[in-house]
Amino acid sequence: MAIVELDPLVREFTAKERPMLIGGEWVPAMSGNTFETYDPSTGEVLAHVAEGDKADIDRAVKAARRAFDEGPWGKLTPSERGRLVHRIGDLIMEHADELATLETLDNGKPFAVAKAADIPLSADLFWYMSGWATKLDGRTTEPHVPYKPGSEWHAYTRREPVGVVGQIIPWNFPLLMAAWKLGPALSCGNAVVLKPAEQTPLSVLRLGELILEAGIPPGVVNIVPGYGETAGAALAAHPDVDKVAFTGSTEVGKLIVEAAAGNLKKVSLELGGKSPNIVFPDADMEKAIPGAAMATFFNHGQCCIAGTRLFVQKSAFDDVVAGVADHAKSLKVGPGMAEDTDMGPLVSKEQFERVTAYLQKGATEGARAVAGGRALERPGYFVEPTLLVDTEPDMSIWREEIFGPVLAATPFDDLDELARQANDTPYGLGAGVWTQDISKAHKLAKLLKAGTVYVNTYNIFPAEMPFGGYKESGWGREMGPEVLESYTETKSVICEL
Ligand code: ADP
Repeated sequence: MAIVELDPLVREFTAKERPMLIGGEWVPAMSGNTFETYDPSTGEVLAHVAEGDKADIDRAVKAARRAFDEGPWGKLTPSERGRLVHRIGDLIMEHADELATLETLDNGKPFAVAKAADIPLSADLFWYMSGWATKLDGRTTEPHVPYKPGSEWHAYTRREPVGVVGQIIPWNFPLLMAAWKLGPALSCGNAVVLKPAEQTPLSVLRLGELILEAGIPPGVVNIVPGYGETAGAALAAHPDVDKVAFTGSTEVGKLIVEAAAGNLKKVSLELGGKSPNIVFPDADMEKAIPGAAMATFFNHGQCCIAGTRLFVQKSAFDDVVAGVADHAKSLKVGPGMAEDTDMGPLVSKEQFERVTAYLQKGATEGARAVAGGRALERPGYFVEPTLLVDTEPDMSIWREEIFGPVLAATPFDDLDELARQANDTPYGLGAGVWTQDISKAHKLAKLLKAGTVYVNTYNIFPAEMPFGGYKESGWGREMGPEVLESYTETKSVICEL
């Protein structure tokens, strides 16, 4: 097992206690407390990180408010702002190896995947969003005011930043989720307090250093690592935060909405999923079979849009199941830093216990594993890529988000029934369709209640396309021009001439 060599900068970074970023300064928690982050491939401590709580959030919000109201940030032209955001993308690529290593050590994902996907996607998001800074145009119009006959008017709209934004992100794509949040917030001119997930704060803290290096003024981006119930809850409830953007579980998303009610801050949410992935017998099976497997096994199933409910039309069911099972068995499960690893460990002990409990539950409920079904007998949080058949629509493994490498399959017969079955979930984040019949693909794309429908592909996240959910998968959209709505206020200016 060849191991990718550790970047010496990474060793240095993890060896020191990591402080938090407030007002442009790297500072310890006010309490002096730290928490540990672990390498999920061994379960051993990787680094010690300042543990922010309510007091630190308060300090960070004050710094953000000052930077927003008084700092040089608001006086930059949109072009200047955009260029700083663009520079963050450049710096990410200049430090690609170091960031990919931090991501792998902290999260567990294969280094090659972090390097090929997470890092360039993060850079690209900043590059894409940087261009919007100069394009946040309003419109002009001549309003009709019936009770002022003969009057003349000039009216226009302005797009303005929302203000101080709280951002709470998960551990599955730590750097990329920070990029999705920070890119649009900064391009629109907001100031931010970002709380990374307690499992994976390291790449985001390194990003904080790069953000300062890019020239983003002090206090515009504040990063407060800490636990959800303390730091996260304080940020969501803070009375001087104008908007909260959250990515994570639907359960916590509901808590965010409650916490935000105090000052009615704006809320955007990107939450869970249990996405249907549909394979027709006329699909190109060379693509559809590995595609159906990786729709779940990519990122070890720790992907909110993972295609975890596999629907296969009856005549092709046995062949597709056999192909996906073979693919699952061929995946090499191991530490993310090993060169031949296809799938790393789950992110944490808690997640490992959650996923293995679902495997147990699935077996008790009568589902049958045709690939995987167990944890690996070794240190670290490794679970086999698993394909379950003999599933029923009321089984927990069919209905609930597992967030692990567990794919459940069912045959379908009746095309008219298919969309109803696929939509029979409280979630609506994604869906996949594999067919060579374009008419069938587009008809289904219209019927599926999901924020993203993939056709003959899966798990593609371009910065140009909006991402978000129907139903309990969230509010609003990330990425694309659509995200700008949630980071700006629109002001109407009405003048009587
Ligand atoms: P998971 O269960 O997969 O860890 P969560 O939804 O719990 O996902 O976590 C996503 C993010 O939400 C993390 O940054 C976490 O710290 C944060 N979080 C968890 N609970 C709360 C809460 N009550 N209020 C605010 N943020 C929270």
